[in-house]
Amino acid sequence: MLTINEIFYSIQGESTFAGEPCIFVRLTACDLRCSWCDTTYAFDEGRKQTLDEVIAEVERHDCRLVEITGGEPLLQEDVYSLMERLVDRGRTVLVETGGHRSTERVPSDVTIILDVKCPGSGEAHRNDWRNLERLRPHDQVKFVIKDRADYEFARDVMLRHRLAARAAAILCSPVHGVLDPKDLAGWILADRLPARLQLQVHKYIWDPNTRGV
Ligand code: SF4
Repeated sequence: MLTINEIFYSIQGESTFAGEPCIFVRLTACDLRCSWCDTTYAFDEGRKQTLDEVIAEVERHDCRLVEITGGEPLLQEDVYSLMERLVDRGRTVLVETGGHRSTERVPSDVTIILDVKCPGSGEAHRNDWRNLERLRPHDQVKFVIKDRADYEFARDVMLRHRLAARAAAILCSPVHGVLDPKDLAGWILADRLPARLQLQVHKYIWDPNTRGV
């Protein structure tokens, strides 16, 4: 059984899969409170569904790519069975996690999009740094950056932990409407960082407050 906030079909807005059609399975609940969180509605809104019901809803869409997100998806025990069953059905599965829960049990065929929380989120003290040791070559690391201090934190983490050699991509995403992407682009270029500037594509296609996209 899982508590599901929403399941919808849209355009993937983030990661190296940005721009591709994708089915999103958003799980309810999160034990962090990032200052810039854009999915606060997922903290407690949701309904219980069996794994069979969730799989049936995903299978209504003819789409290879499925992202499991939240909230914090790794809070619910049955998320591991969900990932396994989707992989067994031939889906390409991504899981986006806040980085404070262990990724140890995420199946090897699933791509982890691992957040590393920067100080501006108010939750940097919750990072589970052992998750960086657990990265597999196909996983991706994401920093949401609010200001120059967050950028310098992200830069230091990615260099100190040699993330470019350990993950498929390092994503640097400016907080939408707070940090000008031009500033972040300039900093990345000036430092020749091995990072990818990530804009949340869905927020440019639709109104940034639109749900289910
Ligand atoms: S981890 Fe994600 S869902 Fe939880 S508060 Fe932070 S941004 Fe929001």
